[in-house]
Amino acid sequence: MESTQNGVSRREAMAIAASGVAVAGFAGGASAKEPGRRTDVVIVGAGFAGLTAARELRRAGRSVVVLEADDRVGGRTKAATLAGETIDIGGQWVGPTQTHLLALAKDYGVRVVPQYADGENIIDIAGRMARYRGETPGLADEDLAEFGAAVAALDGMASRIAAPRAWLADEAAAWDAQTVESWLLLNVKGEPSRALFRALARGVFSCDAGEISFLYFLSYLASAGGLEALIATRGGAQDSLFAGSVWQIASKMAAELGDAVVLGAPVSRIEQDDAGVTVVTGRGSWRATRVIVTAPPALASRIAYAPPLPARRDGLTQRMPLGCVIKVALAYDRAFWREMGLSGLVISDKTEFGPWFDRGTPLTKGGALVGFFDGAPAQRWADRTPAERRTRVLEDLARYFGEAARHPVDYVEEVWTLSPYHRGGYVSVPGPGVLTGFGSALLEPVGRIHWAGTETADAWVGYIDGAIRSGERVASEVAPLL
Ligand SMILES: Cc1cc2nc3c(=O)[nH]c(=O)nc-3n(C[C@H](O)[C@H](O)[C@H](O)COP(=O)(O)OP(=O)(O)OC[C@H]3O[C@@H](n4cnc5c(N)ncnc54)[C@H](O)[C@@H]3O)c2cc1C
Repeated sequence: MESTQNGVSRREAMAIAASGVAVAGFAGGASAKEPGRRTDVVIVGAGFAGLTAARELRRAGRSVVVLEADDRVGGRTKAATLAGETIDIGGQWVGPTQTHLLALAKDYGVRVVPQYADGENIIDIAGRMARYRGETPGLADEDLAEFGAAVAALDGMASRIAAPRAWLADEAAAWDAQTVESWLLLNVKGEPSRALFRALARGVFSCDAGEISFLYFLSYLASAGGLEALIATRGGAQDSLFAGSVWQIASKMAAELGDAVVLGAPVSRIEQDDAGVTVVTGRGSWRATRVIVTAPPALASRIAYAPPLPARRDGLTQRMPLGCVIKVALAYDRAFWREMGLSGLVISDKTEFGPWFDRGTPLTKGGALVGFFDGAPAQRWADRTPAERRTRVLEDLARYFGEAARHPVDYVEEVWTLSPYHRGGYVSVPGPGVLTGFGSALLEPVGRIHWAGTETADAWVGYIDGAIRSGERVASEVAPLL
């Protein structure tokens, strides 16, 4: 097999360039002593963080190798085909303050299109169903007043945190001793407001309010610029999506890196010594001056380290699980909900499936919806069959959109929770006590090992934009050390 500079065959490089999804055979057992397997920096993970770090270091004149466990690039972004259209079955939306992702999309000529938000939204929370327009949730007046006061209080507390270093806030210990649920029970009296917060927490974190450290929740708000920015469509994190998928940006970045990206190469061990670092995979080893790990903590914990990691770093990786999520997209011969005056957005605590949104773009023929099983419903449904999940999704959709919802022309889903190299999504979610006890290990390098990934971002933690920012940050951290 012909090997190129970094020990990857021409065939593999071309496969990456063509689609980003193919893995060719690789000469197993190859040694880090081979010249092609020496590089300035090895990057673990070809998600947006890893690809950005590689791009930046290359631009700074450094050699890189990106080792990716999966058989494709993109990490928590992934393309799928729905009724002939390429869509995102992982990360999908972008908001106006997510400037690093928007800049990357521009660089690679990928078109941003507004999320469809005309018509009325549906809210079905705490036994009351209503239709409403715009971004202000359709609660009864007194509940809305309480909800608004709670949002203002949360944003006020969040403004005292500099993400991701939430453990440095003056009130960190008190906030980290609570969960979002315990804060709600003490500070929000009305059941409708509580129920809406629970649904929003599920929609944003893919886990339940009782699982989320209140300090982490506030830090997340701080990193996004407030709760409204997280939950809004217009002007918020769901403002726009990408014609033909955001994943294609990752694919184009990988194509540019060519044979420096190695797929199907799960890193099993990282060994450090005085002179450098050896990174071991099932497809052989690479030798480098520094290594950047972009896998989220729960995945980084599956790598063996020699010498072992400091106790605090190892403890952190045991305590940051990912949320549980199943993403589903459906195509219809027409967007009948638009004809009913509906936007497609439904927030409900009555259904297993939800929230859901219209996901039409100018490329969509007919209509399309996208939605999620988040948190406890994702746990309940991950081990069921695709046919069972489909039946449940259609039942839930029919509750609000009528019989027409039972007849999609196409259905695709991704059970992120069962994906061995991702273990869930959208983001890692620490419970109480973790950030104050172990948080300082999130970004602190361990010898020649540096950490990146959306979980380490200073803005838009949990989002693609945060992943890109973390890739840029770690590249500037590592470059002067080479
Ligand atoms: C269903 C879903 C919907 C989402 N929606 C949005 C959205 O609309 N907008 C938004 O901005 N964000 C969204 N997100 C979140 C967003 O996708 C992530 O924040 C972002 O992609 C994370 O990028 P990353 O590079 O930090 O990590 P990842 O993408 O997780 O990349 C880490 C990579 O490391 C690899 N890896 C793990 N272990 C190893 C190993 N041992 N050896 C080698 N490689 C390894 C993994 O395979 C992965 O490719 C969503 C996520 C999901 C799952």
